[in-house]
Amino acid sequence: MNVYVKITLAMVAAWGYGCTPQSTNEQPMNPTVEWAIAVHGGAGSISRSLMTDEQAAVYRSSLEGALMKGESMLMNNRSAVEVVTEVIALLEDDSLFNAGKGSVMTASGIHELDASIMSGHDRNAGAVTGLTSVRNPIRAAQLVMQESPHVFFSGAGAASFAAEYGLEHVDNAYFTTQKAKNALERSLNESVNKFGTVGCVVYDKTGNLAAGTSTGGMTAKRHGRIGDSPIIGAGTWADNATCAVSCTGHGEYFIRAGVAHEIAARMKHGNERLAEAARAVVMDELAQMGGTGGIIAVDALGNTAMVFNTGGMFRASANSAGERIVAVFGDE
Ligand code: ASP
Repeated sequence: MNVYVKITLAMVAAWGYGCTPQSTNEQPMNPTVEWAIAVHGGAGSISRSLMTDEQAAVYRSSLEGALMKGESMLMNNRSAVEVVTEVIALLEDDSLFNAGKGSVMTASGIHELDASIMSGHDRNAGAVTGLTSVRNPIRAAQLVMQESPHVFFSGAGAASFAAEYGLEHVDNAYFTTQKAKNALERSLNESVNKFGTVGCVVYDKTGNLAAGTSTGGMTAKRHGRIGDSPIIGAGTWADNATCAVSCTGHGEYFIRAGVAHEIAARMKHGNERLAEAARAVVMDELAQMGGTGGIIAVDALGNTAMVFNTGGMFRASANSAGERIVAVFGDE
């Protein structure tokens, strides 16, 4: 059995809504960093008993690749928005994750993709939902933000907007993997679910923040269902005054808790530090509602936080001071 098949089986068997408050990774208060980045590839019931080191290594290597892309762009003075877009596009093309290629399937066996992006210096934002043929939904979201007076496009309108700007279109089957088919089959029978959304938050050399999130949503979702990922304030938020946040988890709860914006609001109105605010929202507010998942965030000084109330979260962060984390399990 190859490693992908094994991972798939372990994930499908393991990932669900079980909520065991787990872990936070915070890089120390560091007002001197020139840039910082964090990336996630989804959160869920990921544990050492369900995933071997070899299986985890496959994810670590993809996360490492995404982190390196972001780091080199940041060193080369690229903007936070550009870095978020390119890092997420890379992860969308990686079939390990539930975004772009590798996205989960709806109950009727197709893919409906969502993405959003927000820029912290002007609080401009772009989002798309229900895309079935745009190869990189994050690029569509970025175009909505930068080229249209609107913020949020859905379905056919989103697709024709993307086509107008020359984005690559693919057949819906391009997104399909055996992993997603197996997950759909299981979930129709046993009500399991899989997380694997991707996200990126960045603090760039000019001090600007940006956040983005891209997902196939949740396995066996009903046609037309929209989760938190494309909703500004729920799954994605960025404001230079506070922080940039990207979420992953059970979207219905993230929407109801307004997770991404709630973290920023605690910083703005309660003078909480990023780490404190993120912990309170994910570990207390969200968990108390029964919401499982996690967030990555970066503040206006370049401090990062990666907090989740699930067994694990595929995550990575780095900054110009040389601090680096690539992690999968809750005890890392
Ligand atoms: N938040 C996504 C959704 O609800 C799923 C995920 O992050 O895994 O659509």
